[in-house]
Formats: sequence, structure tokens, C-alpha cells
Amino acid sequence: MSTPPRFEEPGLAGESARGRAFAIGLRNRFRGITVREGLLVRGPAGWGEFSPFAEYGPREASRWWAACHEAAHQGWPEPLRDRVPVNVTVPAVDPERASEIVSAGGCATAKVKVAEKGQGWREDVARVEAVRAAIGPSGRVRVDANGAWDVDTAVRMVRELDRFDLEYVEQPCATLEELGEVRRRVDVPVAADESIRRAEDPMRVRAAEAADIVVLKVQPLGGVRAALRVARACGLPVVVSSAVESSVGLAAGVALAAALPDLPYACGLATTQMLTADVTTEPLLPEDGHLPVRPVRVDEEALAGVEVDAAAWRARARAAREADAEGTGGS
Ligand SMILES: [Mg+2]
Repeated sequence: MSTPPRFEEPGLAGESARGRAFAIGLRNRFRGITVREGLLVRGPAGWGEFSPFAEYGPREASRWWAACHEAAHQGWPEPLRDRVPVNVTVPAVDPERASEIVSAGGCATAKVKVAEKGQGWREDVARVEAVRAAIGPSGRVRVDANGAWDVDTAVRMVRELDRFDLEYVEQPCATLEELGEVRRRVDVPVAADESIRRAEDPMRVRAAEAADIVVLKVQPLGGVRAALRVARACGLPVVVSSAVESSVGLAAGVALAAALPDLPYACGLATTQMLTADVTTEPLLPEDGHLPVRPVRVDEEALAGVEVDAAAWRARARAAREADAEGTGGS
């Protein structure tokens, strides 16, 4: 193993100044956005991605910057596996379309979006039923309500949907208190996703006995090593998920999943298909329901197709780096 390069301020400043910005269209609206943007940075260890969502200020973005810096300068811990299982995601579509998505996905695990605004409970039941039929009795089916149910609705719906044998229910309600209450009233395991945005959140989830499983993303936690520390401290089983990055950012999620001592669940990392383009000619796409653990190289031509002016992103990276330096110095 090579020694990690020294953390030097001038190099860091130069790095954010040289970053290349991208803007890639999304096939469907996600978190209210239709374009995914970010900065790509190349260092001695490879490419890193810095792509915090627009609403995050410098303090929050500083964790995303730390993840980018780790990828570019330090690389990731040795993988314990050479591929990681992933789930296919079924949006709030009709049963026929849901069935097609599962069959085309080739994954042994499906995550089904439920509790969609403007839809009723019968639509959720029909969609989950179709997914179970398409994936077969040995497949795993989980549902994700993105925090949309109240406690009583969640309890009723989880019991109803468990006819199709649920692996777990992801973020049935918005708050930790509600998650805990649902968890005490149903037999299906509960996973916390939106409740976790910072490194201290998994410990809060655990202390509140609000979930059986935590969904972790690399960028908001400040890198693969930071996420591994969080996973160890938290002690709950982890599902690694993406923040819908390009294949460069996604590779960090794969690295985390590959380095976790235990990986009992398929990961939410099959997300490059949500994008209309990528920055590499070899995107991280699932094969046989798995993503390969390998480096991703930016392709100049592919990047040229999605590259945008980097000035604003470089400024954001600079602000995030400065917030990070303050945070480290202050506590
Ligand atoms: Mg989720």
C-alpha cells in the first residue's frame, strides 16, 4: 500500500480550482430536480465527485467535499468482496410497468416506492403484488414510503403489504419517534433513510430504537472511511445507497459496500440508469444483480458531452473546504 499524500493546503486549493463541472439530465424528477450537477476532481488516487444538493450550505457540503477529497487523494480501504448485490427500484408506476421493470432489472431484490402523493392504498397493494409475482418467491421485496405515512397508516399498510412478504419497510414515517412507534407495532423490520443525513444521526436512530437497519450514503457522511466508522459505532445492519451520482461518485458507494464486514442486504446503488448520460464510457451498471468493485475513469469525450462552466462549483468547493477546516479546528 502506498502512503497517503500529505494534506497540504495549497494542493487542496489548487484541486478545487481545477475541478471540472458536469450537469446530467435525470430520466425522471428526483427530489424535485431534473438535472444532477457536480464537480469532478482528479488526484493521485483517482477521480472524486463533489455533488451536494443545491440547498446544502458550506457546512453540510464540507462532508461531501471530504468524500471527494478521499477518493482523489487517498483512495479507499481494501475491498472484502469483488462485487456487491444491488436492488432494482420500482417507482410509483402501474402494476404492468412495475412487473416489466423487475423483469428487466435482473436483480434478486426489488425496492418498491409506495405512499405516492395522489395515489391510494390499492395502487400500492397492486404494485407490490405485481412485483412479488415478477421477482418470484425467492426474491426479496422491500417498500419505501419516503416518510409519507402517519403512524396508523404505516402500521395498517405494512400489515397489508406483508401479505407479499416484505424484507423491510424504509422510512415509513418522517420522525424518529414515529419510526419507533411503527417498529414496535409491526413485525416487518424498519429501515431509516431520510432520518440519516449526518454522521451522528445513525447513533440517534439507535438510541431512539427507531429502526432495525440504517441506510448510509458516502458523500453526506464524509467519505468511505467515515461511513465505515459510523457503521461500526452504530452497530445496526447497513444498506449502502447512492445520492444519484455519476459513476465516479457511485464508485465510492460501491467501495463502502465492498469494505463493510457484513452486507446482509442488497444496496441501493443501481442508480446510473436514472441519468441520461455519464462521465465514463464504462458506467457502473448491474450485471446479474451486482455491481463490480472497480475504479471508474472519466472519459474526456463523455465528460465533454455533459461539461458545464465550473466557476460556481469551484466556489462551492472552496467554501466547503473552508467550512471543513473551521470545523476541524474548532472542535
Ligand atoms: Mg429511501
